Amino acid sequence: MYDIVLINGNVFYEGLFQKINVYVEAGKIALVSIDLYPAKEVIDCEGNLVIPGIIDPHTHFKLALPNITSRDDFSQGTISAAYGGVTTIIDFLAPVNNESDLLVAFNTRLADAKPSLIDYAFHACVMNPRNQVEGITKKMLELGMNTVKLFTTYSDSGRRTYDNEIKELLELSKYHQFTVLAHIENDDLITLSDEYTYRDLPISRPTISETSEALKLAQYAKETGGNLYMVHLSSGNTLAELKEKFNDIIHQNFIIESCPHYFVFDNSILDREDGNLYTMAPPLRSKMEVGLLHSLIDDVDTIGTDHCSFNKVDKDYTQLKKMPLGIAGIEHSFSIMYSLFGDKVIPKMTENVARHHRLYPKKGIIQQNSDADLFVYQLKDGEITHHHGMTDHEIYQGFKVKGEVIMTMSRGKFIYRNGKIIPHQGHYIKRGETE
Ligand SMILES: [Zn+2]
Repeated sequence: MYDIVLINGNVFYEGLFQKINVYVEAGKIALVSIDLYPAKEVIDCEGNLVIPGIIDPHTHFKLALPNITSRDDFSQGTISAAYGGVTTIIDFLAPVNNESDLLVAFNTRLADAKPSLIDYAFHACVMNPRNQVEGITKKMLELGMNTVKLFTTYSDSGRRTYDNEIKELLELSKYHQFTVLAHIENDDLITLSDEYTYRDLPISRPTISETSEALKLAQYAKETGGNLYMVHLSSGNTLAELKEKFNDIIHQNFIIESCPHYFVFDNSILDREDGNLYTMAPPLRSKMEVGLLHSLIDDVDTIGTDHCSFNKVDKDYTQLKKMPLGIAGIEHSFSIMYSLFGDKVIPKMTENVARHHRLYPKKGIIQQNSDADLFVYQLKDGEITHHHGMTDHEIYQGFKVKGEVIMTMSRGKFIYRNGKIIPHQGHYIKRGETE
């Protein structure tokens, strides 16, 4: 007898919603079928959507910056995630320059993530790994990470990876089944004057800095044949240029991630009294850019939130240099994107993420033998009023949504149901293993 069956729901199965039953046993999807079989627990999902658990490939829980640590830790951050139907996160190790530091960074993060309610994986992260690239990539693969992130900017804090190492990483990625994630902004086109206030963010980090660097890295990806993944694309213009000049490699070996906030807000919000709460890197773009990004949604492969939350007091600065950059976003990411774009966002937040981050088919899909990670979504008009993270404000306050998460399941156990979180132990997911 099966443990649980979800009946009568509209299940996102084989790429579309179908009226079909989902059977769960021992933490896995045991069967998807129109036929009825006995189960210990029967959940009637009549009228509701049953969707694979969201995978957020871009979170920064408990991120230690020089003067401050982001507010959501792995415990509260993953609780907030579960309220939003998120069942897996991929967070980042501290950036390193060599193999032994990578191991330290990994063990530190593993300890940080222990209280997670949902499953988690990590991206390795490098700074300026001269002559150390091969050792680092070998080690990260051993530890179950087949993604490594670099920054093309932040040379001021020593975090920039330079072109030679970027190319070396891309070369290696082709032979060793990993993907290079890049925070893409041209460092030379970023200015950080002491005079700048946070309202100058669009001037400090202009669109051209993202676009020009993205085109350069796309060229490297093309030349090397390596696997490149652009994190948090912010600008419609960047995407339009990539599509025009590199249509042969985007969605193949140049993968594009964007974030909900770049679709919802434009940079005029910085002029509001609470504009300081809408600061992140790359920054919000013009209304025209946001419109262009909307029109190109089909060319966005994945959605991540770049969740990096702070309280009002943490962001109570005028000077840009002092401002910790980042916002919360994990809890409402699905509702927001679904309300804006409908069914087409589902693969961008589930299966595509799992494929590009090498979690597929364990995660990201409802099918036999996959982990029983899913959520039930009730369609009804509503609006965002609050969240369950640590921070004292909700930047999406008042946003009109078309539904609400009413149940979330992780590896066959309900972790959110009847308005309550149910304790559960998230697991570290070692990627690259077939199970
Ligand atoms: Zn980030």
